[in-house]
Amino acid sequence: MLSNMLPNTEIHANKVALIIKQIHEKIEQKKNNGHLAISFSKNSVAHVVPNPKDARFHKSKVDLKSLNQIIEINPLEKTCVAESGVSFVDLVEQTLKHGLIPMTVPELKTITIGGAVSGCSIESMSYKYGGFHDSCLEYEIITGDGRVLTLTPSDDIFQMIHGSYGTLGILSKLKFKLIPAKPYVKMKYESYNNFNDFFKVLYEHSNNFSDGSKNSFDFIDAIIHSKNHFVICTGTMVDVAPYLSCYNKTKIYYKSTLKRDEDFLTLSDYFFRYDTECHWLTKSIPLLENEIVRFLFGKYLLGSTNLIKNARRFRHFLKLKKRQDMVVDVFIPAYNFENFYNWYKKDFNFFPLWIVPYRMPSIYPWISKEHKARIGEENLFIDCAIYGKKNNNPDVDYVTVLENKVFDLNGVKTLISKNSYHIDRFWQIYNKDHYQQIKSKTDPYSLFENLYTKFH
Ligand SMILES: Cc1cc2nc3c(=O)[nH]c(=O)nc-3n(C[C@H](O)[C@H](O)[C@H](O)COP(=O)(O)OP(=O)(O)OC[C@H]3O[C@@H](n4cnc5c(N)ncnc54)[C@H](O)[C@@H]3O)c2cc1C
Repeated sequence: MLSNMLPNTEIHANKVALIIKQIHEKIEQKKNNGHLAISFSKNSVAHVVPNPKDARFHKSKVDLKSLNQIIEINPLEKTCVAESGVSFVDLVEQTLKHGLIPMTVPELKTITIGGAVSGCSIESMSYKYGGFHDSCLEYEIITGDGRVLTLTPSDDIFQMIHGSYGTLGILSKLKFKLIPAKPYVKMKYESYNNFNDFFKVLYEHSNNFSDGSKNSFDFIDAIIHSKNHFVICTGTMVDVAPYLSCYNKTKIYYKSTLKRDEDFLTLSDYFFRYDTECHWLTKSIPLLENEIVRFLFGKYLLGSTNLIKNARRFRHFLKLKKRQDMVVDVFIPAYNFENFYNWYKKDFNFFPLWIVPYRMPSIYPWISKEHKARIGEENLFIDCAIYGKKNNNPDVDYVTVLENKVFDLNGVKTLISKNSYHIDRFWQIYNKDHYQQIKSKTDPYSLFENLYTKFH
């Protein structure tokens, strides 16, 4: 059989019809009440830092839970068609049966393919392939007036779906490329004690991919453990592994990169190597790094889904904190990374800092023309993921400080957590005209929020 048919397209069409029915009901409610704020309910947790004041908890829900099936994996074409609520851990499990993987696999198991496109996704293959959306060939979206559109990369609307965070329509089905895989990953950890040596090598590795024969890695990321301890993590897929390490239980992946210079993992364990700790968010509750606690209670406490669910459960206690800890990715053009790092180590001084080289095939159309001009020709960005910095100084909101610095350095801050932009500054970065033009086509009743208001 050419392709492996799972639930058929008819079942999918029925699910879409039920979502459209909900959309029509919401439109009626909005007409009657004058105002209605919408959010989506999915099977997996939302990858946002639980905020007790998050309006999302009180919004009217569109239920997308049924959109959780892989529709087709085509090994010859090396493509997959799947519903938007499929998580990466389920997706990889199925594609690996065909010796294939998606071109970008975010590190947390239950990030969904629809969420990765609507929000953001960056990982260790991003230095070659960009974000997951850059490997997509087709989107099916449900518009805010209940139409179904099938979009390909040549459509304006397609290009604006990435980074629209559910404000232009509901992604219901995606078709995307797959690439060949091998069962294991050989890891190399290169340690440096100064920024210049570290970045010189990281930059070279990130630019060597075009010549497949020479120094080309399948995976590249890095962890800055402290001001003077930089580790570049490169991975190569291999057929045979002399031994295998496992970081799903008592052992801690990010700490292993401090001690080892080589390691072997199964490909699936590699993809989700940061999931057990949600990168290093367990560090803020030291008991979670205790081996005995991990052995006894790890099943209930560890893993990004447990960690996010528990934080959500206790979100009302978080009200005690003036502001939540920071969990944010910022993309800095490679030419300004040194400037950023010099500022960061002085003013933020929070480690580990996760570093992921990220190549945008071209500057995305949701970025404003003036910001694009500031960025210039560079298409290699360095994603700096600041996961867990405290932000409770009553006199300084580090979110605002970061937003200003990233703007000054021609970068882009993702919207995955707290945002404090003034509206004028926001639309200096995001492409207002283009966004409004697309929104008028896909959401004529403004059923979904506006990108600025959703996050502010
Ligand atoms: C602690 C933490 C760690 C992270 N680590 C990584 C990482 O290692 N690698 C990485 O690539 N990314 C990482 N991220 C970022 C994450 O990938 C993005 O936040 C992503 O958008 C989350 O997708 P999700 O499936 O969880 O969707 P959600 O978080 O539920 O949604 C994200 C946005 O997309 C919208 N949305 C969701 N589904 C749909 C749909 N079907 N149609 C339209 N809009 C939709 C939602 O309304 C929301 O605005 C991390 C985020 C956090 C908070």
